Amino acid sequence: MSGKNEEPTSYLLHRHATYIPPRVIASSGCWLELEDGRKVFDGSSGAAVACLGHGNDQVKEAINRQLDEVAYIHSGFFESSACTGFAKELVLSTNGKMAQAFLISSGSEAMEAAIKLAIQYFVEITSPGHYSQRKRFIARRQSYHGTTLGALSMGGHKGRRKIYERILMDNFSHVSPCNPYRGLRQGESVEAYIERLAKELDDEFRRVGPNTVAAFVAEPIVGAALGFVPAVPGYFKAMKEVCDKHGALLIFDEVMVGMGRSGTLHAWEQEGVVPDIQTIGKGLGGGYIPISGILIGHRVSNALSKGTGQFAHGQTYQSHAIACAGGLAVQQIIRKENLVANVSEMGNLMVRLLKERLQSHPYVGDIRGKGLAWAIEFVQDKQSKEPFKPELKVAERIHRKALEGPDPIALYHGSGTADGDKGDHIMISPPFIITEEE
Ligand code: PLP
Repeated sequence: MSGKNEEPTSYLLHRHATYIPPRVIASSGCWLELEDGRKVFDGSSGAAVACLGHGNDQVKEAINRQLDEVAYIHSGFFESSACTGFAKELVLSTNGKMAQAFLISSGSEAMEAAIKLAIQYFVEITSPGHYSQRKRFIARRQSYHGTTLGALSMGGHKGRRKIYERILMDNFSHVSPCNPYRGLRQGESVEAYIERLAKELDDEFRRVGPNTVAAFVAEPIVGAALGFVPAVPGYFKAMKEVCDKHGALLIFDEVMVGMGRSGTLHAWEQEGVVPDIQTIGKGLGGGYIPISGILIGHRVSNALSKGTGQFAHGQTYQSHAIACAGGLAVQQIIRKENLVANVSEMGNLMVRLLKERLQSHPYVGDIRGKGLAWAIEFVQDKQSKEPFKPELKVAERIHRKALEGPDPIALYHGSGTADGDKGDHIMISPPFIITEEE
């Protein structure tokens, strides 16, 4: 090895060490303008983030107002009207189902907070001096819950776990996701499928041991790991019954599909199955500011206030005033402009067009999703559902082609089938403000 250092392609370590993505120099609504003059439609809102599109003046004003009032205060010493107002907005949006909000910066941090709060809940309800044995979590394969070590251990995304497998925690185990396109057996009814998945979860609770599991964790619509796969109706009700039977909490990761993306403000509203802890992020601040949070149900909140009275998990940027002001403005706009109704309306139009134009394409295996969260899974054989070879990088190539085409569109892409991280999908999740013409 020579002593000479390799010159990096860029001072910034991009996602890809050798590919420098195009530079955005302006933005407005659903559109991004690139340095070379091209206008790109933000077809996935980044990664299901920019729900209000770009350049919203009301959000900019709210952030500027907060900057004038106060930018940062330590959340242990002071509160701001932005953080209390934002928490109130979020808790009231659950119609009394949730009791409190805890606010931080990213989806991964929200998952870490959820993991620790679930552990602390069982410590709080166990008699003083005794430690609860509940320190395990059951999550699902082909899930993604974030990049930090707890969240990564929880996630079942093989590709993202691979390098770090050796340091991941072993108190997380995984059951099958609910993915009817690949999981439903020939001739099997939806009811029988749900029963099979519920039995698998029940068996996993038994395998790891009674009173050892703190929570079962799931994304109501699987995002990055499979490409917007909603569960079949009735699935979460059955899973909740299994959790109740074993005395475990239910955690929903709504980081990607929460806050309106699914067609209801909270994805759980559609089945009426309320989690004990719900994580939110991404569209929560619409990309104007990094903000995430957990919404805490009454059972957990009560245990905390009757117990130690303190969540043993403080962060420097918790309840950050500017982040909360930005998030509050985004959520107030969504509520006041009834944008969730537009999500349903435009989502219905989009899926109709996608199905009309693409369902019969020989390489389109499945078109699935909800609200404005839709994905197309590509296969090399429609009949056998055989995915393309990973080395062909089909989804990545579709992303590049779409960006370079005559009507450039930016599309989030990934890989994942029910058997692992092979397969290709693109995710179409435009801003909530998308119009019929767009
Ligand atoms: N949970 C889900 C469902 C996600 O999709 C993501 C990110 O894609 C995360 C958690 C982690 O969020 P972040 O990247 O903001 O840390």
